Amino acid sequence: MKILVVGAGIVGLCTAWHLARGGADVTVLDRAAPGEGGASSGNAGAISAGSVAPLAMPGVLRQVPGMLLDPAGALHIPPRYALRAAPWLLRFVAAARPARVARIAEALAVLLWNAMEQHRLILAEEGALDLIRETGQLYLYRDRAQLAKDAGGWTLRRQHGMRIEELDGADAIRALEPDMRGDYALGLFIPEQGSCVNPLRHAQVVARGVQRLGGTIRQEGVAALLTAGGRIGGVRTATETLTADAVVLAAGAWSARLLAPIGIRVPLETQRGYHVMLPDAGITLRRPVVPADRKAFISPMEGGLRLAGTVEFGGLEAPPTPHRAALLLEDLRRVFPQARTDGAQGFWMGHRPCLPDSLPVIGPVARWPGLWCAFGHGHLGLTGSAPTGARLARAMLGPAPNLDLAPYAVERFAA
Ligand SMILES: Cc1cc2nc3c(=O)[nH]c(=O)nc-3n(C[C@H](O)[C@H](O)[C@H](O)COP(=O)(O)OP(=O)(O)OC[C@H]3O[C@@H](n4cnc5c(N)ncnc54)[C@H](O)[C@@H]3O)c2cc1C
Repeated sequence: MKILVVGAGIVGLCTAWHLARGGADVTVLDRAAPGEGGASSGNAGAISAGSVAPLAMPGVLRQVPGMLLDPAGALHIPPRYALRAAPWLLRFVAAARPARVARIAEALAVLLWNAMEQHRLILAEEGALDLIRETGQLYLYRDRAQLAKDAGGWTLRRQHGMRIEELDGADAIRALEPDMRGDYALGLFIPEQGSCVNPLRHAQVVARGVQRLGGTIRQEGVAALLTAGGRIGGVRTATETLTADAVVLAAGAWSARLLAPIGIRVPLETQRGYHVMLPDAGITLRRPVVPADRKAFISPMEGGLRLAGTVEFGGLEAPPTPHRAALLLEDLRRVFPQARTDGAQGFWMGHRPCLPDSLPVIGPVARWPGLWCAFGHGHLGLTGSAPTGARLARAMLGPAPNLDLAPYAVERFAA
């Protein structure tokens, strides 16, 4: 089977890796080098198989006005973009109904439950297990009142099997992370989650694996999906037409742009996130630490400490807002006031591909035989990439996976 994969982010690469391993003749197309074109190089590295609580939780409607008004908030919608974002936000609020949240959490749990094992499988075959650490993640709260605001999400995660150890008091937190000096009195330690210490190298390793398995990586943009005889039969680039038995659309936040000309509308929005690197912060962390009030990740990586987070609406074209990245340095100081920030570098922005129900689109497109989707993993795209690749490749090449792809279907937005 000849297959074209559009997008060499971590989702497209893991899918291509499984397709190539399953015997398909795979070519990955991306206008950028593997991992460098989108969100996959700069994320926080958290591998969070138990993160089954969607972003839209019951009560979210009460928070939206605050989001619109607070320019320093962890989530920001600039007034100039509020109207553009409104239809997406309405769907987002609709997804927060309790019955819907329960179904979304179930679908996320089914997709992500063995994410770490799936990453290990690929990295073990590529000889790069050093990329992942299984030392857990640590969420910090100032007090119980603050924790109570997130209680619904933690209850949902517990119901789906997440093991959470509660650390009561700053000393208990320091037993795990001795350098913590901030004003945080409660910790939630999640021992069974992990992290990647270099997301760009991770993507490059998987790309090399695709080539090792006989696949091809081409640095070339895709201008359009090719329709012929009622199906998708390949893609058009700026210079040529490439035909194939199947096309996998894994173009992250840009995926909707290739679907619109063939009549498929998807409410895909970019949630712009930022990171700052501190090569020499002078503190030691053993795992990603998350000040939960700021929803920022402080992640130890190969190249130093990475501060990553913030959610900014604003579309794919607007230039980055350096102020958002600077907020991350303040988040760090709240937890580690002694950290050195003078060498800060790599102010980076990436586009999280977000659908309003926090579920990715995975699977075939009913209206266009030959077209398969793997995009929209939002805040969990590193985590979800390896399991998505494994399941999609099975669905395409057989034997049919023991997984109903219906909850992830693109057709859920047709109504
Ligand atoms: C600040 C931040 C922190 C994050 N932290 C985490 C985390 O800790 N854990 C986690 O699991 N997830 C995290 N994420 C989310 C995660 O990074 C993304 O969900 C994931 O990288 C998406 O991968 P992708 O392959 O779908 O898209 P991308 O990595 O964006 O790749 C899409 C690719 O498609 C290419 N492309 C687009 N259009 C075309 C075209 N027409 N032709 C050819 N190529 C095209 C682009 O060049 C790009 O390379 C974070 C994201 C951000 C921004």
